[in-house]
Amino acid sequence: MIYALIAAAIIILIVVAIIGITYAATRKKPEIITTPPAPQKDDGEIGEDIVASILGNSVAGEKYVINDLLFKTSEGHSCQIDHVVINKYGIFVIETKNYSGHIYGKENVHQWKQVVGKAINNFYNPVMQNSTHIYQLSRRLGIKGVYKNIVVFLPKADISFVKSDCVFYADDLPRILAPSSPAVLSGMQMERCYRILEYSKTHPTTDKQEHIENINKMLESIERGFCPRCNGKLVLKIDENGEYYGCSNYPKCTFTKDKESEEFSDAMTRYQLRRLFKTRKRRSKKLKSKKWK
Ligand SMILES: [Zn+2]
Repeated sequence: MIYALIAAAIIILIVVAIIGITYAATRKKPEIITTPPAPQKDDGEIGEDIVASILGNSVAGEKYVINDLLFKTSEGHSCQIDHVVINKYGIFVIETKNYSGHIYGKENVHQWKQVVGKAINNFYNPVMQNSTHIYQLSRRLGIKGVYKNIVVFLPKADISFVKSDCVFYADDLPRILAPSSPAVLSGMQMERCYRILEYSKTHPTTDKQEHIENINKMLESIERGFCPRCNGKLVLKIDENGEYYGCSNYPKCTFTKDKESEEFSDAMTRYQLRRLFKTRKRRSKKLKSKKWK
């Protein structure tokens, strides 16, 4: 008798529990309303905005300004240029670096240094990086010898240790864009170049996502020890510039990669690299274990 009572009590308890659980599950959870955070600009983008505001707008027949130009090269890579200014004095190709700290570098040295307190970061020589941009631009525009390689830093960087005629502060741009040299471009040539680039901008053959994917492919090739441009073997080289990886098909192929940092001599900005590595972090652990020597 007593067992029957206990069994009945247990059954009742189970039924109550099931009803309770079902009720809790079907009850709607209070809705939490969240507003998506405003997309945060990183230092690279902020720097590019500042420089764009210094450069101002295009003035027909006088100066043409194109910011954040992205196009696909004939090799199928993508090329991203921070700013291009076209005026009668030439085509100014501008790379913006919004870095802080002390910057150390020479024009012919692959690896530059950023020193912030005790931290030292290596980054790929931005003048060389911009040379790649100019090469691609000259192929696109079919015009040679009118390009000015300009790398600008913002005032938070100390560039007094940099040895290069191409490196300036952003505030110097108005002076640089109006040199006391003779004109090299006619009004017609200026307009033609601008129209080609403007067309590239409004009809991009590549978008940011594709650009990142291209970089991804290149980095994977590098991680396997092969040149992403010509598939030659990457070899460790040592010269007065220090240690770096270069393509075994040099001088046919001039691809190089910094030994310490992730930067390499293809058209990309630090901003894109940073964004890329955010998305790659998970995968890179797996790849690192297979890293080539
Ligand atoms: Zn190569």
